[in-house]
Amino acid sequence: MTLALGCIADDYTGASDLANTLTRNGLRTVQTIGVPRGDLALPDVDAVVVSLKSRSIVAADAVAKSRAAERWLRGRGAGHVLFKVCSTFDSTDAGNIGPVMDALQADAGDAIVLVTPAFPGTARTVYKGNLFVGDVPLNESPLKDHPLNPMHDADLVRVLSRQSRSRVGLVDLGTVAQGPAAIQARLAELAGQGIRAAIVDAVFDRDLETIGAVAIAHRVSVGASGLGLGLARALATSPAAAHGTDAEAAPPVGGAAACLAGSCSQATLGQIAEAEARMPVLRLDPEALVAGPDEASRAVGWAVPKLAGGPVLIASSGTPEQVAVVQQRHGREAAGHAIEQAMAGIAERLVAAGVRRLVVAGGETSGAVVDRLAIPGFLVGAEIAPGVPVLRAVAARQGEMLLALKSGNFGGSAFFSDALCLMR
Ligand code: ADP
Repeated sequence: MTLALGCIADDYTGASDLANTLTRNGLRTVQTIGVPRGDLALPDVDAVVVSLKSRSIVAADAVAKSRAAERWLRGRGAGHVLFKVCSTFDSTDAGNIGPVMDALQADAGDAIVLVTPAFPGTARTVYKGNLFVGDVPLNESPLKDHPLNPMHDADLVRVLSRQSRSRVGLVDLGTVAQGPAAIQARLAELAGQGIRAAIVDAVFDRDLETIGAVAIAHRVSVGASGLGLGLARALATSPAAAHGTDAEAAPPVGGAAACLAGSCSQATLGQIAEAEARMPVLRLDPEALVAGPDEASRAVGWAVPKLAGGPVLIASSGTPEQVAVVQQRHGREAAGHAIEQAMAGIAERLVAAGVRRLVVAGGETSGAVVDRLAIPGFLVGAEIAPGVPVLRAVAARQGEMLLALKSGNFGGSAFFSDALCLMR
């Protein structure tokens, strides 16, 4: 198997978003958790997204991890590697977008790198090099107050110049609108001036398709899921991608099913209430979960005898008032971490008891569960709700498993049963 596209994502949820976008645009895609072992057995796929947690770490570490991911992807035949960053270009003057871009470009030998975080589907557009979030420039958006990477400048040519050893230029929307040949001519002109990276304007998906058609002929590009869309659509019209059967066409997994909810979002609270009419639901005592292992054991003891009869749901979730009480007593981070770990422990014991179809509500909760189960990667399948696909575990020590991992606010009111309907 030779990969048509390799991707390195600087955080897990961004990686999932990209893997889902690639799948929805015709590429069979696996998302791995971290840089995989050299001998990871992959199904026949077109693209691999390696998920790193490198957005806010020391730049040198981000470079080292990204280069290791690139080596793995090139070793699997990837001709093009997309470095996937946030569509709001989350970074500081120290990095990590610029340093990683510089290192990947040096390894690949490209004269110039195309860079665009545009993702019109989520209202991220780039015009004259300025990034807009919805109706306002980046520096007027909520990102100006981000706790780790406050963004005070919407001009990405300036932002990237401060982080990169390269001089940075612009391919503007007028050039993009003229098509691939005009972009190539502009890139050649910039490269002739010694400019080694170019912010590329994009306002509509069609701009990203044009940019994707140019970028795919390079070895490296930098962008968000929007550029992924452009690259996938460029590959979909070329023979390089296999376009095999979808993950959901694979044989059913069967086995017991369970749902875990650690999200306290309004959407998830509504989904738990709705599930009460459809399956047994256990609401955990968060105080007891933080205090020690007994509450998790109670949950496992409650669930296991019921699994033969159908799916169950276990929820730590509370209302904002209930959450505030727990956080006041234990501190926000300590309470969150303890509950996540308790939920991960419950997941581990349910899987040991035969659960092979697992739905998890909550971004951090999902991360803790996936880390605990040590699943190396996922093949992305059918979409349960926008942005929430069915995931088939790849090379998991537990054998065949299906998972659905959702951020708190995602999904309709019947999310848990919608998910289980698609997880056979
Ligand atoms: P979301 O995707 O909605 O943000 P997360 O799982 O990312 O959900 O975050 C929810 C956080 O709240 C986790 O850290 C989780 O452990 C914590 N949590 C879950 N239940 C409770 C509760 N009853 N009280 C306080 N914190 C809770």
